[in-house]
Amino acid sequence: MSTIDGLPPLREVIATHGLSAKKALGQNFLLDLNLTAKIARAAGDLSGADVLEIGPGPGGLTRGLLASGARRVLAVEKDARCLPALAEIAAAHPGRLDVVNADALEIDPLARLTPPIKVVANLPYNVGTELLVRWLTPPVWPPFWQSLTLMFQREVAERIVADPGSKAYGRLAILAQWRCEARIVMRLPPEAFTPAPKVASAVVHLTALPAPRFPADPAVLERVVAAAFNQRRKMLRASLKGLAPDIEDRLNAVGIAPTERAEQVSIEGFCTLARALGG
Ligand code: SAM
Repeated sequence: MSTIDGLPPLREVIATHGLSAKKALGQNFLLDLNLTAKIARAAGDLSGADVLEIGPGPGGLTRGLLASGARRVLAVEKDARCLPALAEIAAAHPGRLDVVNADALEIDPLARLTPPIKVVANLPYNVGTELLVRWLTPPVWPPFWQSLTLMFQREVAERIVADPGSKAYGRLAILAQWRCEARIVMRLPPEAFTPAPKVASAVVHLTALPAPRFPADPAVLERVVAAAFNQRRKMLRASLKGLAPDIEDRLNAVGIAPTERAEQVSIEGFCTLARALGG
């Protein structure tokens, strides 16, 4: 039996190529091609764009991306067992899928991509967060990518899109929202994956803004935010003491009460503070 793209169903692909899920690689596969097509659509209009996919596994999302009209997909997969299954997809879409067998944390795929570039991935949680932080802190802005559409553990997705005043608001929210539009576009229960993970997931879509929302030196902003949230229950006058001996005066000067806590300060507030502290 074949599917809409003429390739075998994913359960068959997994059985044929012996792709039993490896826990160490965070392998929780999406086997429903309607769902992977939906995730690909959540990445926006892919026609005319190169897509960087990290962790294609047996290729469910890859097939969705190709069906959605991506100009080219560059897929980076660490597990060599997946290569024959991905080669079958490449053969069905001549010239549109390149597969690199590598650890995404160790390679720079940029040279192989032509802008506009969109990144789409269903990755293990720890790898996803590490890559997200790298993609949000490039040496120059705007970054190489136009948008990121990434699957996360739901709790992490909520931290990325969190508003000030909420428990989930912190470093990740500020890092993401300072220079991007970030929203959750899909929520998935554990049963959407095979095998089912312990927690629910969500897809976050981030679009790079042409410039940061408020001016600030990224390194100073990062230092201020890290210090404030490392001791998030403390008042700012205590948590930020190490940054300037006269921190109370500096906070007062920019209109932030020294008795406030990190989670009450908006992104604009942190940027103002970063500028007052030298960047
Ligand atoms: N995209 C597929 C899907 O949606 O069914 C697979 C998702 S599975 C959650 C994560 C995939 O990322 C696996 O195929 C795994 O082998 C791969 N992976 C894990 N760590 C990786 C890394 N550091 N670099 C590249 N791929 C990685």
